[in-house]
Order: sequence, then C-alpha cells, then structure tokens
Amino acid sequence: MPEVNLFESIKRYICKCAFGLSLATNVEALLKMPMREYHVSLPMKMDNGKIQAFQAFRVQYNDARGPTKGGIRYHPDVTIDAIRGLAALMTWKCALHGLPLGGAKGGIVCNPKELSAGELERLSRAYIQALFQIIGPDKDIPAPDVYTNPQIMAWMMDEYSKIAGKTTFGVVTGKPPALGGSPLRQDATARGGWYVIEKACQDFGINLKGATVAIQGFGNVGSEAALAGQQLFGCTVVAVSDSKGGILNWNGLDILRLLSHKRETSSVENFSSGRSITNQELLELGVDILIPAALENVITMENVGSIKARMIAEFANGPISSDADDTLQQRGIPILPDFLCNGGGVIVSYFEMVQNMNLYQWDEEKVEEHLKKKLIQAYHNVYSLAQKNTLSLRQAAYTIAVQNVVEAMRLRGWI
Ligand code: NAD
Repeated sequence: MPEVNLFESIKRYICKCAFGLSLATNVEALLKMPMREYHVSLPMKMDNGKIQAFQAFRVQYNDARGPTKGGIRYHPDVTIDAIRGLAALMTWKCALHGLPLGGAKGGIVCNPKELSAGELERLSRAYIQALFQIIGPDKDIPAPDVYTNPQIMAWMMDEYSKIAGKTTFGVVTGKPPALGGSPLRQDATARGGWYVIEKACQDFGINLKGATVAIQGFGNVGSEAALAGQQLFGCTVVAVSDSKGGILNWNGLDILRLLSHKRETSSVENFSSGRSITNQELLELGVDILIPAALENVITMENVGSIKARMIAEFANGPISSDADDTLQQRGIPILPDFLCNGGGVIVSYFEMVQNMNLYQWDEEKVEEHLKKKLIQAYHNVYSLAQKNTLSLRQAAYTIAVQNVVEAMRLRGWI
C-alpha cells in the first residue's frame, strides 16, 4: 500500500485525538480541511528576456485563534497537499504554544538554486503582488521556510509596503535585524528544539552531555542545531547531511569548520575530517539523538525497520510518516513531535510581531528568556498529559493543540 502524504498523516492524527476528545463528527470534519486556499500563477520575466509562469499557493488553514501565520517554501516538489499539511501543523503549533495566531503556509513551485538573485527577487515580489489582498499584519503573516531567508523576507516586506503606501514591518517575520527583525530569530527553531530535547533527555534517561547526534539537513535549522548542540549542550555531533549527501565522524565533527566548508563549496560533502555517507545511512545510524531537519516523509515504512536512534527530535515538519510513527511508538522510541519541538521559530516570529507593533527592539537576553519559558511549558504540558493518559508525546500534543483550537471555534460561535 502506498505511503500517505503529510496532509493525510495529519488527518489520521486528528481522527485519533478526536476520538480521545469525543469531538462531534462535524467538528472533526471541519478540523480536517483548510478554511481558505489560494492558487496563483506568477508570470515573471527571466534574465534571458523570456516570460516564465510559476505556480504558487497560500493556505490559511484555521484562523479561530487569530491572524494566520506560517512560512513560504521555494522548492520544486511543493504541492498543494504538502502546503495544506504544513498549514495544519502551523495551526496546531501556534495553539500548543499558546500564541494568539492561526496557521497558514505558502509555497512556490520553483528550483531556487537555478534562479539568479534578480530572478529570486522578482519572483518574491510577484508573490506579494498576487497575494497582497489576503496577507497583512492583522490577517496573515508569512515567514521563511525551506529555501527562503531573511533577504527574501526583506524584499517581501518592501513590496507589501510599496503597495500599501507605508512601511509595514509587521507583514512578514524572519526579517533582517536592520528591518525590524528580532534578535535570535535565525537560531530560534534550533535553540528551542534543544530546550525540548534537554528536558526530554532527563525524562527518558539519556545523558545529554556527550550524547551522539546525527542531523539531516544543514540549512537554517540543521546548521544552527549542530552548532547549538555542540557549543551550548555539550553533545557530540557525529553526522550531518544536505541535499547532496552527508558526512560522518564518530569522534565528532568540527561544526565551525564544516560551516566554512559549506560556504565555500555549497555542500557538506567531501569535508576533509569525516567519511561520506548517504542521507539514508545518516538516518540509520545508531546515535543517541536523531534530528531530521530537512523535509517531510524521510522516515517511512521502507526504512523504519533500520532506525536505531534512541530518541528522535523532529526539527523538520512531518519527517516521519504516520505508519512509520506507529512502528516507532511500538518499539518504544521517544519521538519529540515537530510542532512541539520546532515551535521556537514561530514563537520568536510572534515576538518579532510584538516588537514591530511597538516599534521597539528587545535585547537577545529577553528573547531567549521568553523563548525558553514557552518551550519548557509546552513540553511540560505535553509530557504530563502523555504520562497521565498513557499517550505518545505526539498524541498528547495533538490533544492539547486541537482542544485549544476547538475551544476558540466554540467561543466564536462557529460550532
Ligand atoms: P533550509 O532551506 O534553510 O534548509 C533545508 C536543508 O535541507 C538544506 O540543508 C538542504 O540541503 C536540505 N535538503 C533539501 N532537500 C533534501 C533532501 N532531499 N535530503 C536531505 N536534505 C535535503 O530550510 P530550514 O528553514 O532549515 O527548514 C528545514 C525544516 O525545518 C523544514 O521542514 C521546515 O519546514 C522546518 N522548520 C523551519 C523553521 C524555520 O524557522 N526556518 C521553523 C520550523 C520548522
């Protein structure tokens, strides 16, 4: 039987927790569909003078708890179903972490590695021109995701501001600090994930100091995860990978040197102090902590039997298919679910919105203190419920998040 995609996996998790929460069938049905979605084509003049049209999406999954929020992905494999799934995850993430926001996600079907800087800028501006009416600081606030970054957010903020006739910092988050970006936004997802791992290691009997770690993905989240894991949490990062392949050294990789190597060669491949491995081999290493930090559905029924990690921390969104998740749960491997573990990004994005509203910038200490507090609280809520009702951490996280969304829908009179 073919493996289900991310959105189908999420619908299965909703079914499971709807049963536990005794939700009415019509409420469950409402939670399983996006409230609004936009499909646009973006015609753009390429550097060679020819016009090319790019397909793009924005899905506003559920705004019961507030304006919707979620990143924009540039990737050739973007599909509307993947964006629906990612938008649903943003809804649960904001609800679990107690943010007054709903969930959304966007994407452009493109290969940014084949676009010049000028083409990337025109495409990013075209996205905002096409969707100007439906985004805004109090409607829907985009942010970076796979292959989008602070520069792209700066262009988007500028394009929105030009059309609106006023500088509007609050329309996107993840901006550079010189344009209203928050301190720590770049490290927030990874740093936050480590706060959750630290607590979970205490509960699941793993000694974090010296723990071996493998990380799939060496972009914004993966590279910051490697750096923080080594420098702030005393772990031994033994393997990392990117789209081209991976590198392994059981004595620990020198992450700062690896970052320079990546900057120079645009890959972690062929790093001198390690041996080359494939992405598949990385996922199957017998490490203490495995951190998928690239794309969804990388652990499926095809490779789940070969997974040997003692704990999996999902920094990526949806890296484990729902079937593989069942198998890992049966094997008793603790999984720190995505929307608990990688909530640091949207939490600091929310702080960025608060700072933009007040035209005031917090210092790094304040951002870190508030970030840590929120993540530890969310972990505590999830772990306590899981213990109390004999649930997996994912089931507990879904139960809390869905309950929070349903309560808002009920109070607003939608159900
Ligand atoms: P990024 O574009 O900065 O990095 C993506 C990384 O994945 C790159 O190293 C790339 O080489 C690698 N990659 C791409 N295709 C791959 C493949 N087929 N196999 C292995 N590696 C591959 O993106 P990011 O912002 O670091 O996002 C990574 C994950 O984290 C995504 O799932 C994203 O949704 C999630 N996430 C990101 C944030 C954020 O703040 N950026 C917040 C929460 C969750």
